[in-house]
Amino acid sequence: MLTCSLQSGSNGNSFYVESNGVRLLFDAGISARSSQERLAEHNRDIREVEAVIISHNHSDHVKHAGVLHRKFSLPVYMTHGAWRASRGKLGVVNDVRLFDAGDCLQFDGTTVETVPTAHDGIDGVAFIISSENKKLGIFTDLGHRFEGIEKWMAELDALYLESNYDNEMLENGPYPHWLKNRIRGDGGHLSNTEAAQLVDDSAQRLQLLILSHLSEHNNSPEIALTTARNILGADFPIAMAHRSQVSDMFAVG
Ligand SMILES: [Zn+2]
Ligand SMILES: [Zn+2]
Repeated sequence: MLTCSLQSGSNGNSFYVESNGVRLLFDAGISARSSQERLAEHNRDIREVEAVIISHNHSDHVKHAGVLHRKFSLPVYMTHGAWRASRGKLGVVNDVRLFDAGDCLQFDGTTVETVPTAHDGIDGVAFIISSENKKLGIFTDLGHRFEGIEKWMAELDALYLESNYDNEMLENGPYPHWLKNRIRGDGGHLSNTEAAQLVDDSAQRLQLLILSHLSEHNNSPEIALTTARNILGADFPIAMAHRSQVSDMFAVG
């Protein structure tokens, strides 16, 4: 299994996964053109992608799903709630494949498990992609460390995990009080410390942690990495998903 992040952050998210000959996009938070160009940087043709699968209805995850569908004939998978909440903003989408949070989606030999989250999007999910005994998690926009998440973490070989904010930067940063409370509240995001602590407590076989969905104003790649290293140790394999460019192509397992 191979994967890269085309971009991740509150300004747009998209992840690419290639497994057993199946090519999938997760989330549609960047333009169709950027998606195409960034895949091309890894010599991948977006016309060979089979589907785009949406985590939840926030615009940094769903905004460009309609254009991706129309331009590249991609079917759009999303939950009933996410579709209801975003359908009015996506334009014409003739091929929507609705699922329930918790369902398993099958693409030949590749399985996509969907995990309900506690984030304040509507009917949102995280993903576990598996094939040939390897499992990759895409866990952004989680809300908080919700019950049962450790069980999912324990199975993963590689993981995109949100590491959204540094506590002090959020507290002392430019956001209004209500927004600070939303971000660190039960329906918001995991901080750098919470993310690394979750991995430290529950990962059993993780070979690669990719810090994702970093805030522009309340975090920096250096601080997120330092916090993770302080908790997980200097030798733990950690990479970053960038806020404005494609990441390396990572091999899972
Ligand atoms: Zn988001
Ligand atoms: Zn969100």
